[in-house]
Amino acid sequence: MTIHLDHNATTRPAPEVVRVMTECLERDWGNPSSVHRAGIAARRRVDLARETVADLVGCRANEIVFTSGGTEAGNLAIVGGVEHVLEACPARRIVACPPTEHPAVRDAVADCTRRGARSRELAVDADGVVDLEALATFLAEEGDRCALVSVMWANNETGVVQPIERIGALCREHGVLFHTDAVQWVGRMPCDFDSLPIDLLSCSAHKFHGPKGVGALVIRQGVRVSPRALGGSQERERRGGTENVAAIAGMAAACELARTWLDGGHLDRMTALRERFETLLLDRIEGALIHGRGVRRLWNTTSLALPGRSSQMLVMVLSERGLAASGGAACASGSVQPSGVLLAMGVDPELAASSLRLSFGRDTGTGELEQAACLLAEVAETSA
Ligand code: PLP
Repeated sequence: MTIHLDHNATTRPAPEVVRVMTECLERDWGNPSSVHRAGIAARRRVDLARETVADLVGCRANEIVFTSGGTEAGNLAIVGGVEHVLEACPARRIVACPPTEHPAVRDAVADCTRRGARSRELAVDADGVVDLEALATFLAEEGDRCALVSVMWANNETGVVQPIERIGALCREHGVLFHTDAVQWVGRMPCDFDSLPIDLLSCSAHKFHGPKGVGALVIRQGVRVSPRALGGSQERERRGGTENVAAIAGMAAACELARTWLDGGHLDRMTALRERFETLLLDRIEGALIHGRGVRRLWNTTSLALPGRSSQMLVMVLSERGLAASGGAACASGSVQPSGVLLAMGVDPELAASSLRLSFGRDTGTGELEQAACLLAEVAETSA
């Protein structure tokens, strides 16, 4: 049996999710826009799902736009948000994000520059946390020329949590739209969109035991984005195309399970589990270090550096030995690139290329983590 410590890449769909999706595909397969009985049944599935997702995120049902996942949600927020601002207020041309964002955000920001916007990189410290003072100065000087700021809630490689409440408040002071990529947050941590200064929030079902290919963009009431998918009036004209009813219902089932889990008060226990795991790793592996250890991080993520080893090699050896981990490196056209997130934090490229991301889930147990720590120590020693 493989120990899955790659939950930030994806999670296994929960049995309840599979059951609900199968039921939809077999029984409620109508088009939600049809007005006959099958269509009405499908529409009811989508409407109920919208309520359930809104309940987990802490927003109103009519603020949810279902998308094909986190990437599309981020694209709609940034490209659609900036396009709308450029039309309404051409002086606001700047779109800003830190260099530690997911490519779904960074590439969307780059796309805005091809549409007449100017991009601005927000400074981060050595843990990857946005420099609030620098952000405040930037907004004081150029806030009236800024359209949108995007900062992820929790980082997918390090788990480092951003002070999004303060970032959102600063943006609001200057009338700047604020988007947060909450793909790694929603479903794992409590989220109360309504009470936070966030205009746009992206989430994705497959990070919390839902299906792949479905997510949502939460658009605060009154905030406008130009649609990217044209050709249908679905999602209140914000995202055309026949809804993926089974996936949307599956996402709702995953939200219900996440809600129950969060209400069960497991967060302290999970944080303690991660602490114990990290202590074991640091005790057993000489020279090991953990990125972002001193700051607030998601309970499930450990970004471990094993100096002198190659993360690509470690991932392969660990996989052979029954542990699924992920490299802090991405493979691009055959060459191994150190993680852009770690480099942006100022981590030495060699150290970045010897880093592993270990991310566990709500069902990961103490035994599994102890086993994983032993295996990691063994593999680290033999590959030193
Ligand atoms: N944003 C973050 C932080 C992610 O980790 C991911 C997926 O890895 C995405 C966006 C993209 O989400 P999706 O896979 O649903 O398109």
